[in-house]
Amino acid sequence: MGKQHLLISLCLLGEPCRYDGKSVPMGGEVIERLKEKYILVPVCPEQEGGLPTPRIPAERKGERIVRRDGGDVTAEYAKGAETALSLCRKHNISIALMKAKSPSCGAGLIYDGTFSGTLTAGDGVTAALLSKNGIKVYTENEINALL
Ligand code: SF4
Repeated sequence: MGKQHLLISLCLLGEPCRYDGKSVPMGGEVIERLKEKYILVPVCPEQEGGLPTPRIPAERKGERIVRRDGGDVTAEYAKGAETALSLCRKHNISIALMKAKSPSCGAGLIYDGTFSGTLTAGDGVTAALLSKNGIKVYTENEINALL
């Protein structure tokens, strides 16, 4: 049987696609171990949604995604989530490794919309759409479950 495909947040692979123009790489050894087991399918939902890098940070406020300056980027986040879901469908993906706490990729815990660094229970927009469609979403904090 061939390797399973794994959807992965692009910034975890070292791509500087975060809002602040940085990446959050997991480290070469972990990435190599993942590659031994899976075919990695990277995605940055915020870039796919048409947002620039760097970009003004945004957080989830209920069903909306609002930038720190008050701008509404809900549509861009929704577009990025749909792109991620399309990739999963294309490659028959059932598991995803996504960046914790992000308003797009975070699963289980995200920032609470007050831009104070406070976390609350919830999923980022992409993580929520993937879960709703039966894809199991892990964050890098749960990496051991995938290795
Ligand atoms: Fe990383 Fe996801 Fe944010 Fe893109 S949207 S920078 S992949 S956490």
